[in-house]
Amino acid sequence: MMTAERATIFALSSGRPPAAIAVVRVSGPRAGAALRALIGRVPKPRQAVLARVRDPASGDVIDEALVLWFPGPHSETGEDVAELQLHGGHAVVAGVLDALSAIEGCRPAAAGEFTRRAFENGRLDLTAVEGLADLIAAETSAQRRLAFRQLKGLIGDRAEAWRRRLIEALAFVEARIDFADEADVPEDLIAPALASARQLRDEIAGALAGGRRAERLRDGLVVAIAGPPNAGKSTLLNRIARREAAIVSPYAGTTRDVIEVHLDLDGYPVTLLDTAGIRDSDEPVEQEGVRRARERAAAADLVLWVIDVSAAGRAADTGHKGVGAAEIWLIGNKFDLADDKRRANFASNCTSENRFTYMISAATGEGMATLMAALAAHARQYFAATESAVVTRARHRQALEETLSALDRALNERDGREEVIAEELRAAATTLGRLTGRVDVEDILDVIFRDFCIGK
Ligand code: GDP
Repeated sequence: MMTAERATIFALSSGRPPAAIAVVRVSGPRAGAALRALIGRVPKPRQAVLARVRDPASGDVIDEALVLWFPGPHSETGEDVAELQLHGGHAVVAGVLDALSAIEGCRPAAAGEFTRRAFENGRLDLTAVEGLADLIAAETSAQRRLAFRQLKGLIGDRAEAWRRRLIEALAFVEARIDFADEADVPEDLIAPALASARQLRDEIAGALAGGRRAERLRDGLVVAIAGPPNAGKSTLLNRIARREAAIVSPYAGTTRDVIEVHLDLDGYPVTLLDTAGIRDSDEPVEQEGVRRARERAAAADLVLWVIDVSAAGRAADTGHKGVGAAEIWLIGNKFDLADDKRRANFASNCTSENRFTYMISAATGEGMATLMAALAAHARQYFAATESAVVTRARHRQALEETLSALDRALNERDGREEVIAEELRAAATTLGRLTGRVDVEDILDVIFRDFCIGK
């Protein structure tokens, strides 16, 4: 059954207890009533007050808290919002959440529900919502900078300005269609509309020209460690992860076949893959794993192909040419074991065919500083363009590409059919509207908000 009044939602918005402080937020029409029930009053807007928090049923004091009141519409969600900064103990938080549950019209928030209300009330557009999700997920400073710019309208404001100009151009064309017979309508309304569309086309194409690197910034530059068995791949990965770089999330996504380490190299995200687990197998499940591991290594931006230089045989003759990655660096490992002749041999063989050749000992750490500096420089260079990027997600790129196609169709309408031009301009405006969430987006909302945690 539908109730007339919208539910008031509440949640623990800070991290899991126990913690020094826990922030509980309440949003909706009953937020003020909830404060009256818990602390006996509603504080002045946007001013912190210290108050005893009581269980309304028993009158027991649960805690003393700093309490804030943000009346709508000038609040984070656009609704009335109350915020309690409690001591972050399990029992304190549970006591307050239980007391809130008992208040009529209040219920626990679903994941992302606060942000969803902010979107529905026009406080954030969809691209800002995505920026917020990225900001919460950001692991490195480069990711954080991009997410923050997106939250503040990097693409959203631009898309909205483009959409307004498109609608203006469309209005010219529609006026021409609707009032074609009337004497006081200027003959040529189409030319200025098309001139405007052409300029928009160029600006959107410019925004797309940045390529996909900003999208990549969200996942990190993928570096795969590969090479023959026993070359020292796992030793190298461990050394990098334990000593040479800040690990962001160790062994996240570890599977039987690919070990994955997220690193922060000078503020840039790098995902390191160890494909040592790649081995042939008759077992179907394992075969599938091996296939995926190979695929990931082949799709890597960079492969560190590790060779044991102390071993006999031509050092460089190791099959790295079969790897499909964008770039391959040869890593001569176990330098501590190699004699001078083998070192020289490796150096001359490898440098003649690949200018990125590093000689290291993963066991002793020799040569690691040079390799790590080269990796950081590579990541910095790879992501340099993202500092001015606008398009940070595949969803944005697809929307802008669609807009571009519609504009091209309008501009290429050779027969000058006004209805066709109007139709295409309308399609372009709709696509831009979908990007910011202004039109017709129910289907994508669930996808976007589902990634949020509860309390956000
Ligand atoms: P993977 O099969 O390529 O992952 O190779 P591992 O990392 O498991 O290393 C194989 C063996 O070589 C292990 O016994 C390591 O301790 C050893 N090893 C790896 N790197 C070095 C190195 O730089 N110097 C020496 N002396 N031994 C190493």
